[in-house]
Amino acid sequence: MKMKTLLLLIIASFIVACNHVPTYKVYDEYPVYDGSDMELTYSSHQSKFRVWAPTASEVRLLLYETGWGGSAYRTQEMNRSKGGTWTVSISGDLKGRFYTFQVRLGETWLDETPGIWVKATGINGDRAAIIGLNEINHEGWENDIRPPLKNITDIMIYEIHVRDFSVSPNSGMKNKGKFLAFTEMGTKNSAGQATGIDHLKELGITHVHLMPSYDYASVDESRSEDKKYNWGYDPKNYNVPEGSYSTNPSNPIARIQEFKQMVQSLHKAGIRVIMDVVYNHTYIGEKSHFNLLAPGYFYRMNADSTWSNASGCNNETASERPMFRKFMIESVLYWAKEYHVDGFRFDLMGIHDIETMNQIRAALNELDPSIVMYGEGWTAGSSPLPEEKRALKKNAKQLNNIAVFSDDIRDAVKGSCIHDELPGFVSGIDSLEESVKFGIVGGVQHSQIGYTKTIYSKAPYVNHPTQSINYVSCHDDMCLVDKLRTSRPQNATEEEIIRFNKFAQTIVFTSQGIPFIYAGEELYRDKKGVHNTFQSPDSINQINWDNKTQYFDVFSYYKGLFELRKKHPAFRMTTQEMVQKQLEFVDLKTPNVVAYVLKDNANGDEWKKILVILNGNRKAVKLQLPQENWNLICHNGKIELRGMAVVNTPEFTVAPSSASIMYSK
Ligand code: CA
Repeated sequence: MKMKTLLLLIIASFIVACNHVPTYKVYDEYPVYDGSDMELTYSSHQSKFRVWAPTASEVRLLLYETGWGGSAYRTQEMNRSKGGTWTVSISGDLKGRFYTFQVRLGETWLDETPGIWVKATGINGDRAAIIGLNEINHEGWENDIRPPLKNITDIMIYEIHVRDFSVSPNSGMKNKGKFLAFTEMGTKNSAGQATGIDHLKELGITHVHLMPSYDYASVDESRSEDKKYNWGYDPKNYNVPEGSYSTNPSNPIARIQEFKQMVQSLHKAGIRVIMDVVYNHTYIGEKSHFNLLAPGYFYRMNADSTWSNASGCNNETASERPMFRKFMIESVLYWAKEYHVDGFRFDLMGIHDIETMNQIRAALNELDPSIVMYGEGWTAGSSPLPEEKRALKKNAKQLNNIAVFSDDIRDAVKGSCIHDELPGFVSGIDSLEESVKFGIVGGVQHSQIGYTKTIYSKAPYVNHPTQSINYVSCHDDMCLVDKLRTSRPQNATEEEIIRFNKFAQTIVFTSQGIPFIYAGEELYRDKKGVHNTFQSPDSINQINWDNKTQYFDVFSYYKGLFELRKKHPAFRMTTQEMVQKQLEFVDLKTPNVVAYVLKDNANGDEWKKILVILNGNRKAVKLQLPQENWNLICHNGKIELRGMAVVNTPEFTVAPSSASIMYSK
């Protein structure tokens, strides 16, 4: 062989060796990258890119002048690097430019993707934007602090959709449907009553829970005139705020600044901010930003290679795989650090594995243990990951300081969420007493509960009441008013429905655990009977702020519930042991009545004994009370914490479908 041929052969084999594409039999063999410099590290003199695409045969970076339209002004090959990543550095200041990655798999170039760790995008989130994240904070942001929070059970949650909050003509807010509506003070409804953030302060909530506010896919950000509505459970870019909630979706900076202004405004009002996060699925599967980097890896598949679907949205993510776990942990931390978010609600948390959820908790604890975590302890379909590994309600004892929604109290109190026509305890249905009691103790072990008679869980599932989210309605299914109307018992008048409504929330707010209401319930909100309004128009979803005037009595009652809970730690016990010791059910020998005493200045309460009587009957009932000098503070749909009457006779009549609450010193 001639020398020249030999040299050519050596060079050729070197090239082949360099382009060798690793193959992996199973996802467990995929390399893991544990650095914190994913995708873009920007500085004014250089931008470094690092994308994880272990099975790619080639990866390129495309640079654009604009966030949408036109073609790349530069295409740059990336180099295979450690842990399955590809890197390239571009010198000069790329601020204001946009980029995508493109992966070649075998001989096929996949579609472009802005990546998954992307923090800023152009309109509709198809291209990543290069910005100086730490240069764009508004003035005073560095002084933003989380409002104080002592115990998790001190939390009172208000779930709101960004658009619903302000979009109605009578909201009095200018930035309709935008993050900035949460910065408007002094706004009023048609009758001059406070709306918006002033209203939230007046009501007394501690936490706003924002429905999906990361970048989701179903609303075209370039067509605000369409007034298209969606709840947003269709994630596109997890680490970017939703563009349609900003005043200028084509400016990548606007949505980031405005989200922060919203957070700071709420913090100034003493209100913490929770984000609804939906890591369990992506809007699309095959061509999602994840799947265009490492096809298949980020999702669970069935044994027959079809996409598993525990989310009910055609795919489910695989939190147990290291790179998705890393993504979830870092994404949550990013919102907590960069945007000062104070809590996270995990959609269909039962899809995620317990280990990942606990690692997120541990990571947040290092930052601030008062950041709350809770989620839906169920799925919307079956999953290939074994049940014992998943963050399901029945496994909640293995979740460290992560709460789960109590569908037990929800459906016992107001009736089935699936069968709209079925009423619950507050509408006069009997045999639900043990389930109501299950909710009252916050889902912990209590010797006076007959667990065989409960509707769902036949055993306590949490370690402490800090793990129970108590509620009767949320965005899903019918809102409370619609549910109570649809399941209306024979001859029940609208006045009686109002009675049921107040009664239902009284149970939520006096139960141990964390109370949660759906925005507008305090204004007697209805959604015209529509069951799941995820894409219904504003006319159905918006908060009608004039309801505050029309149903002022309902609002005042709800406000009273917040105040009662805020002022009385007896309703906010933090441990199972406290509940077992200081909450005692009292048998008042009347069907459909649940009563209990919070005793011995429970949890340091100034009131020595508190007697709560819940009358689920649609008629008044006469009861024999334990003998005490009682001060009545809640009765017949009214709350007056200074006391409305003294009760010192053994016989007492509780009004129909309502609570009577009294205390003794
Ligand atoms: Ca979007």
